[in-house]
Amino acid sequence: MANFRLFQGSDPTRIAEADSVAVIGLGRFGSALALELMAKGTEVLGIDADEDTVQGLNGMLTHVVRADSTKEESLRQLAVPEFDCVVVAIGSDIEASILTTSLLLRFNIPQIWAKAVSDPHGAILEQLGVEHVIYPEKDMGRRVAHLVRGAMQDYIDIGDNFALVKTKPPSIVVGKPLRETTIRARYGITISAYKRGDSPWTYTTMDTVLEADDTVLVAGQAAQAEAFSQLR
Ligand code: ATP
Repeated sequence: MANFRLFQGSDPTRIAEADSVAVIGLGRFGSALALELMAKGTEVLGIDADEDTVQGLNGMLTHVVRADSTKEESLRQLAVPEFDCVVVAIGSDIEASILTTSLLLRFNIPQIWAKAVSDPHGAILEQLGVEHVIYPEKDMGRRVAHLVRGAMQDYIDIGDNFALVKTKPPSIVVGKPLRETTIRARYGITISAYKRGDSPWTYTTMDTVLEADDTVLVAGQAAQAEAFSQLR
């Protein structure tokens, strides 16, 4: 008999059939991810080996279970092989992360996401065949570095050297229609949307006239988007 305790009664096979995600490892990253998925309407099976962690999330996820995810029998009893999407959010226990991920690969789960705490950890996960290896600390560190360097309010690396930047409009684009600013030709970026006061975000047109207090969303090659956001 597998060693696990299921909170909240109902059958985990049922949620495997719904649009649902299993999150294994409910530390800071895994629990934040699981709670955000719940907030967006996704059913979540949360699994953690630690009793207190599981108790702390009781009632906040569709199911939360204490189990050792390195045990194949435990995962099978929790219907984990039936899930289309599983996230392994175990970090510092690299052995547990790798053993768990190998089982999921053997189950042929279509979408496996696994957190890596270091480059070698990530390399092993990639070599095993995990398609989505995530580096939350490294990615957040890089993102914050961009914010700390400049006037950006937010920075999202889309990949392939493309970025979205939330920033204040520099004076060269204020007070005249965007078509007259020639910013795309001069700076290689596009201002895709803007927000004024309490109004919602609005797509820009060539006729949009920005004000100095607006907030804008700039899209472009990472270096160009960043350079544009440094203009005053
Ligand atoms: P975070 O930064 O997200 O808090 P971390 O990288 O420090 O996480 P760990 O301490 O390795 O992460 O693990 C995160 C969670 O995974 C912990 O709550 C831990 O109990 C759980 N965990 C570790 N090993 C197993 C396992 N074999 N089965 C199930 N859960 C596990």
